[in-house]
Amino acid sequence: MPNTYECCALTDCPWCARDDLACHYCGGTGQWRPEKPVRDASGLIAWTRVAEDCRMCTGTGKKHLHIAAG
Ligand SMILES: [Zn+2]
Ligand SMILES: [Zn+2]
Repeated sequence: MPNTYECCALTDCPWCARDDLACHYCGGTGQWRPEKPVRDASGLIAWTRVAEDCRMCTGTGKKHLHIAAG
């Protein structure tokens, strides 16, 4: 079961307040699955899939655009 957050760290976040836009990066799941390199015992690099909180929406699954001020 996906572990999504209700809201990101911002209070009164305008992006968390709406639920009609899914995060483009994780597809609304709040998680992304990057591949991480892991060196095995023989020194070869293997790639393993890990699940992390989506960094673009901080695990909320909602679209967040961080627009630079100004
Ligand atoms: Zn937010
Ligand atoms: Zn996301």
